[in-house]
Amino acid sequence: MTTITDSISDNLAQVKAAIRAAEKLSNRHTAVQLLAVSKTKPAVIIEQAYQAGQRLFGENYVQEGVEKVTQLQHLQDIEWHFIGPIQSNKTRDVAQHFAWVHSIDRLKIARRLAEQRPANIPPLQVLIQVNIDDEASKAGVQAAELAALASDIAKFPQLTLRGLMTIPAAQPTAAAQEQSMAAMYGLFSDLQTQYKTVDTLSMGMSNDMQVAIAHGATLVRIGTAIFGARSS
Ligand SMILES: *Cc1c(COP(=O)(O)O)cnc(C)c1O
Repeated sequence: MTTITDSISDNLAQVKAAIRAAEKLSNRHTAVQLLAVSKTKPAVIIEQAYQAGQRLFGENYVQEGVEKVTQLQHLQDIEWHFIGPIQSNKTRDVAQHFAWVHSIDRLKIARRLAEQRPANIPPLQVLIQVNIDDEASKAGVQAAELAALASDIAKFPQLTLRGLMTIPAAQPTAAAQEQSMAAMYGLFSDLQTQYKTVDTLSMGMSNDMQVAIAHGATLVRIGTAIFGARSS
């Protein structure tokens, strides 16, 4: 009988092998990081992934995320990333419980996170979310707004600007999707020349991980391929 633990560690091994293969194909020399997206999955499942060696976990919903962070406090080297939309009345929870935030897209949120980041823990590691395909339904800054927000964020000592995150639009063709990813890589490279703390391009999910790595992603956010389909 296959237990859940077996399948999670098998899935993790497969995802890692796919990442290594994609790195090789694109001649990458630095390892692409794997963020396990655990939204909707209970703490026991996350702990199984942890036992299988996974350390970086991503959550989308503040309250659900904080509950799991609290439940799993005994796993001291776990690293929590907040990747969902942030309302201003939820910034304190994010500032207190997460190591990274991928989804900053306005100054108001950045300022609140900075003000609310406890002084006794390291600065919050932040990515600016870019709405690369200008979709009305999606969060993120437009490319033209990026420079101003980056320069504001870089001024907060409680925040460390690490790079960019994007969720490209579903596209009818691979070529169209690759165009968005290439554009993201261009923005990321420009930002790197301006800020020496910038080293992270968070791009690629279960369905487009290979293409994202080929286009310079340094971190992929994978849910379904590790934990299976989500029911909600
Ligand atoms: C849910 C989610 C993911 C993971 O998506 P999968 O297709 O399950 O791999 C990645 N990034 C964000 C922002 C998400 O909300």
